[in-house]
Amino acid sequence: MTKEEEIPDWVGAKEFYDKYEPKEILGRGVSSVVRRCVNKRTSQEYAVKVIDITPSDKMTSREIEEIREATVKEIDILKKVCGQENIIQLKDCYETNAFFFLVFDLMRKGELFDYLTEKVTLTEKETRKIMRALLEVVQFLHSQNIVHRDLKPENILLDDNMNIKLTDFGFAVQIQPDQRLKDVCGTPGYLAPEIIECSMDAGHKGYGTAVDIWSAGVIMYTLLAGSPPFWHRKQMLMLRMILAGKYDFSSPEWEDSSDTAKDLISRMLVVDPVQRVTATEALSHSFFSQYVVNEVRQFSPYRKFKVICITVLATMRIYCSYRRAKPVTKEVIKSDPYAVKPIRKLIDACAFRIYGHWVKKGQTQNRAALFENSPKAILLSLAAEAEEQDQPSL
Ligand code: ADP
Ligand code: MG
Repeated sequence: MTKEEEIPDWVGAKEFYDKYEPKEILGRGVSSVVRRCVNKRTSQEYAVKVIDITPSDKMTSREIEEIREATVKEIDILKKVCGQENIIQLKDCYETNAFFFLVFDLMRKGELFDYLTEKVTLTEKETRKIMRALLEVVQFLHSQNIVHRDLKPENILLDDNMNIKLTDFGFAVQIQPDQRLKDVCGTPGYLAPEIIECSMDAGHKGYGTAVDIWSAGVIMYTLLAGSPPFWHRKQMLMLRMILAGKYDFSSPEWEDSSDTAKDLISRMLVVDPVQRVTATEALSHSFFSQYVVNEVRQFSPYRKFKVICITVLATMRIYCSYRRAKPVTKEVIKSDPYAVKPIRKLIDACAFRIYGHWVKKGQTQNRAALFENSPKAILLSLAAEAEEQDQPSL
């Protein structure tokens, strides 16, 4: 009896759909789609990674078999690393001939990548928290001879308390203590030089766990600077920069950073993997010690200029608001009630109650007019609003 006859193809899928209701898409990979899903019985929310291994024109049967084998490996590693607090937890998994369903805890805050895009750069304090957790995960993985091989902000998720959870163990592999790897995988900007060397030299001795430290160095640089250390429009030139370890701290963002942070990055971005720090060494770097945090910023010309600009702007603002403040007299209230903040608030609230929505103060309409004791003013105001509502919205 073949495996397919023993377990009909739809069984795993039915089990999944019986238990969970899939919802909107959270993210996509090459052959996977990640959706929010809800446990029908408990209403608890999760994220399900659906890996498509349906035979199609787009993929050869060999490619499909490779994805199946890689997914089995991914599940195996996820089970091995279960329990570490900064690694995503695999809750459930189902397999059919056409799909894998991997159910994880839902990370509502999404990827570190998107968070960084929104914030542009992170402070040293925030970077310290993220990097400490990331290096602790790497230390834990390396202690089991597991290499992640795809560390990047897209694969680092954030939980409700902004703690990181490492995900995507699709390239992760467990090796023997002295085993060397040769396959070229990962994401270009985060590739360690020795991985690129392997792709160029068939006789290369291979690489090991140190590749994750290189990627962690790229991540730390990117968090603080808001841009990656190795980047070129032409990928070939970018790979050359990586091979030569050519990067610098010359952009203005680095003027605000401590030498301690730069020192740690430069110990992770060492071309020779033997000279590169290990996760344990990196964690004992002074960047992570409580007292040596070099938050005392040096007064560079750039910082001085920034402080002068902020001071001038603040002074102007205080002066202008002082000039604008007029004493509230009966005459002012009578002539322009809308100019007085507490009365304006009252008028707005009343207008809201009348119209059921906010009415803008413009040239043709004036909320204050609604309260003027003249039917003409009210009619004019209503007409102006009706006219505005007739305009097609852009
Ligand atoms: P792939 O191997 O295809 O890159 P990932 O496991 O990295 O798949 O997931 C792809 C994307 O889906 C992630 O980058 C993230 O945006 C989203 N995602 C994955 N897992 C979760 C989760 N548990 N909670 C929220 N979003 C997730
Ligand atoms: Mg991914």
